[in-house]
Amino acid sequence: MNTTVASGDGRAPVRRVAPFPSLRAWLRHLAATDRLLAIRDGVALEHELAAIAKHFDGRKATLFRHPGGHPMPVVSGLMSNRGWIAEAMGVPPDRLLAAYRDAVDHPLAWREVAPADAPCRQVTIDFAAGSADLRKLLPVPVHSEHDSGPYITAGLVIARNPATGVQNVSINRIQVTGPDRLGVLLLPRHLHAFFHAAEEAGKPLDVAIVIGVDPLTALASQAILPIDCDELTIAGALHGEALDVVRCVKHDVRVPAHAEIVVEGRILPGVRAPEGPFGEFPKYYSAREDREVIEVLAVTMREGAIYHTIVPAEMEHLLLGAIGREATLLAHLQRSFPNVTDVHLSKGGTCRYHLYVQMRKTREGQPKNVIMGAFAGHYDVKHVVVVDEDVDVHDPDEVEWAVATRFQADRDLVVVAGAQGSALDPSTTLGYPDNRPPPQMQGLGAKMGLDATKPLVSSAQVFTRVRIPGEDAVDPDDVVAASGEAALAGTSLA
Ligand code: MN
Repeated sequence: MNTTVASGDGRAPVRRVAPFPSLRAWLRHLAATDRLLAIRDGVALEHELAAIAKHFDGRKATLFRHPGGHPMPVVSGLMSNRGWIAEAMGVPPDRLLAAYRDAVDHPLAWREVAPADAPCRQVTIDFAAGSADLRKLLPVPVHSEHDSGPYITAGLVIARNPATGVQNVSINRIQVTGPDRLGVLLLPRHLHAFFHAAEEAGKPLDVAIVIGVDPLTALASQAILPIDCDELTIAGALHGEALDVVRCVKHDVRVPAHAEIVVEGRILPGVRAPEGPFGEFPKYYSAREDREVIEVLAVTMREGAIYHTIVPAEMEHLLLGAIGREATLLAHLQRSFPNVTDVHLSKGGTCRYHLYVQMRKTREGQPKNVIMGAFAGHYDVKHVVVVDEDVDVHDPDEVEWAVATRFQADRDLVVVAGAQGSALDPSTTLGYPDNRPPPQMQGLGAKMGLDATKPLVSSAQVFTRVRIPGEDAVDPDDVVAASGEAALAGTSLA
């Protein structure tokens, strides 16, 4: 499907081709381009699968055909590279944020299909009979060393707002705690609001956990949107055509029809049970606490279903969250500062905490305004570095060089004490007994911004970047005459 994306920066629009409507189509593409590895049989679901997937994360996707002797295959690392995500979207990497933003600005309503036309409804397992066991049905891996058990990490949780009926999609970590019981972490966002509204009315909240979707539907689930904006409509926009959805067997939630596996259930009112510890995106564990509980009602799947797991804190996990955040932060900043040209959430900052902003400064002081705007853009943003247009925000060496040579701490540093940040940042727990802040203090921390732009006016050559005429035009094929021992021919060393 072709769509045209306005570039938003005066450059020519991009014609986009998004040809991967399902997980299977994307897997076939990865296989055809030598980016999918089949891993030998006999790999354990506990730790071993995740260790192998982590080893290849960012370089190859991995396919485990019978992990732990389970008949259902597991795949991982399907979107662990920025270039691959751009490819799935049908744009060059430098158009990725513009294309994502264009989709967010132009949502496309989904199209409901009959169950007979929905691949995810080919097989149905009803849990009402009492004999079904999710732990046997799905090959759910145990990932990190201190995780409390198997976790569904690539489950898109879909629920309807009890007040409006509009759906929401989010990826929540889900612990498999019993044959039909799951523990779930609800951060204070949309799903959390839906459940608390249902719970106050004494009702459960119907949910579907969708495992094994195409890359763009997974990416759309991470869009930063207002409540009552259905992330599946962003998936449609990213695809360039309406997403096919089907009604669940047990309730009214609509799920992507091409999904591999759908776990239908409901979050139980008035019930909490221990969940965690679990190794999270900052590469630390989040503590065991009493959290919400899902009762499983049914599982539907494709014939020969494929299970997808995301290795926590690795690139697939970090990038899925980063793209939507970067697109949102860029749009947010450009509303006030049209001279902001690019943003990047760096890998070293776990793609959440460190924001690099590139801008075309026209007046002194603007970078500090941009820093304050960035803090307001998302509470996870902790440290901001603003650089000039000649500095590549996607290259951490370039950003460090700008800090080293264009920044003076007594003039160019902004510190804000006592702001809301990420509750998963362990440094926010310092000073509390047992490092456990009370709920109202969780995530409280400092923000820091660095203006690493050079002055607009300075003496000649003080801030002139060293370059060598012709350095960007060197063609190795043209200039290399010989290499290795042959390189010495014609010299006294021959
Ligand atoms: Mn939402």
